[in-house]
Amino acid sequence: MEHMRVPLVDLTRQYAQVRPEVLEAIVRVCDRQQFILGAEVEQFEQALSARLGVNAAIGVSSGSDALLLALMALEAGPGDEVITTAFSFFATAGAIARLGARPVFVDVDDSYNLDPAAVGAAITRRTRAIIAVHLFGLCADMDPILAAARAAGVPVIEDAAQAIDATYAGRPAGRLGDIGCFSFFPSKNLGAFGDAGLVTTDDPALARRIRLLRTHGAETKYHHQLVGGNFRLDALQAAVLHAKLPYLSAWTSRRRERAQRYTRLFEASGLSSAIALPVEPCRRRHVYHQYVVRTDQRDALRAHLAARGVETAVYYPVPLHLQECFAPLGYGPGDFPRAEDAARTTLALPMYPELTDNEQEYVVDAVAHFSTECATL
Ligand SMILES: *Cc1c(COP(=O)(O)O)cnc(C)c1O
Repeated sequence: MEHMRVPLVDLTRQYAQVRPEVLEAIVRVCDRQQFILGAEVEQFEQALSARLGVNAAIGVSSGSDALLLALMALEAGPGDEVITTAFSFFATAGAIARLGARPVFVDVDDSYNLDPAAVGAAITRRTRAIIAVHLFGLCADMDPILAAARAAGVPVIEDAAQAIDATYAGRPAGRLGDIGCFSFFPSKNLGAFGDAGLVTTDDPALARRIRLLRTHGAETKYHHQLVGGNFRLDALQAAVLHAKLPYLSAWTSRRRERAQRYTRLFEASGLSSAIALPVEPCRRRHVYHQYVVRTDQRDALRAHLAARGVETAVYYPVPLHLQECFAPLGYGPGDFPRAEDAARTTLALPMYPELTDNEQEYVVDAVAHFSTECATL
């Protein structure tokens, strides 16, 4: 096959599809000159709360700030523990530490998500919340996590940054726990033209607190009930996201179809058992924010693909408990062997709705070529 270049993600293809609607939305905001919160943000919030079936959807400045606001609303602070996974993007744990609370890490299961048994075992009197991450677009095993949390009276925050449109037992990510946090970072499954995020909840008191905290704790200007921050969603981002929203279901279907096709092609290529493909446990709809394979030869596979023009990424090379900034927490290598193994062996392949048949075949050929080579070593 002739040499191709397959990017890890290519946002220009999606933009070509939505360009007229998005530009119209941007011009509308420019013509109105109303940039902070307002009608655009409210309409987007209403569309999202209807889509997810939650009482409140609150547009915020980023996914990281969504997590921070969720924890601020639950009054997490010094002396508190917040249980979360050792294998996620940094923001999940950063939000906990920024508030002076202690991240309590637990190991992952085979789906790279929180191991429910480990969550139950980590709950103490000091546990203020649990943050379950739906990594790569697959929901964590929420039923046993929620059961352990409910038994202890601890609220559950979902980090659904990678999981918009994912479901667990028919329910959407973002309405499985007490508070849901979404990111609309440009490369997420629904991406803004900059930073943006969303917090969801069914609890009216929490919704009210989160809205207050979003605007420096003031409902009436210059009268501050709480110490919050500037966590507002821009009208421009809301308008762009709202214009893209009607496409999301089709994009999600297409990601799933592309993922299933990757898996079929890999299986047909006689891929060696040394490379494991992603799995979709029953009752969970995976939205494939990433299509992640794993192999002991990860770094060699990555170099082999790069030499053939296939861009890949490692999410994430260092598990959270081994991050330099968390050294004071006292964790060390060997504490969470499955998270450490995931950090060492996983590789994300190019994945987006617009990925072509040719590109997929080229990627699969390149991986299969490596896999037969390393099987004979
Ligand atoms: C992207 C992401 C975030 C942070 O979202 P931003 O919008 O980039 O701040 C948090 N958690 C996870 C799992 C993410 O993938």
